[in-house]
Amino acid sequence: MALAQNGYSVIFDASRLKTYRIGDSRRTLDLRNDASGALIADFCGWYDANIEPIDGGIYDDWAHAVRKIVGSAWEYSNHSAANAVDLNATQHPLGLRWTFKAWQYAKLRWALRFRYRGCIRHGIDYHDRPDEMHAEIVAGLEKCAAALRRVRRREIRKRRAKLPKLYYGNLLVAVKQGQRNNRNVRLLQRALRSEGYKGIEVTGRWRPDDAEALKQFERKELKRPHPDGEPGPASVRALGRNRYRIRGLK
Ligand SMILES: [Zn+2]
Repeated sequence: MALAQNGYSVIFDASRLKTYRIGDSRRTLDLRNDASGALIADFCGWYDANIEPIDGGIYDDWAHAVRKIVGSAWEYSNHSAANAVDLNATQHPLGLRWTFKAWQYAKLRWALRFRYRGCIRHGIDYHDRPDEMHAEIVAGLEKCAAALRRVRRREIRKRRAKLPKLYYGNLLVAVKQGQRNNRNVRLLQRALRSEGYKGIEVTGRWRPDDAEALKQFERKELKRPHPDGEPGPASVRALGRNRYRIRGLK
């Protein structure tokens, strides 16, 4: 079995590749279908958001390609293992130094060390011949999987921290008193809408239509034979999943 420089098998067969989406963009790259491919794909998304956009205009981003290392007759480049990438190649030609600004070097090195824990090596750190478009996996599968888990956990925490807070006690008071334009009721109505109840208007006042939608939700999601349509703890929690953080709910 042919091995690339980083010890991963060379991929000749496209069925072992996976098409990864880069960050939130529509761009995709074909990389190895395992944790090492997922980790380098995550790096591309991070790069796009933090270093410079991976522009879609010019096609100068490369991932999988079976090829030998430049200047070597027999050693396969890590691109052959589909866990190496070249990003914005036309802006970072092979052999040139200082194609990035100082803050970009600092940020890249921070990420390589603390976000990717040494699993990824970047061409900015090549001594003999810099390759500032290039990044590659240099750790085994297990270490990559651990780094990937850490990165994902961190993303989830970050996303959760950005969610709006719903105050459960205030919500119940607002529902009971029929308050108008209440922020917590609005959050609940928005959550109902995103569950597919498109008839719900986000007014901030709890109305029979909302109770009816909540009843359907309780029947469908919580498997309740006799749903009451009142925003109780279980239904609010189920609706709040990934939509808001709930305060004051025991
Ligand atoms: Zn490369």
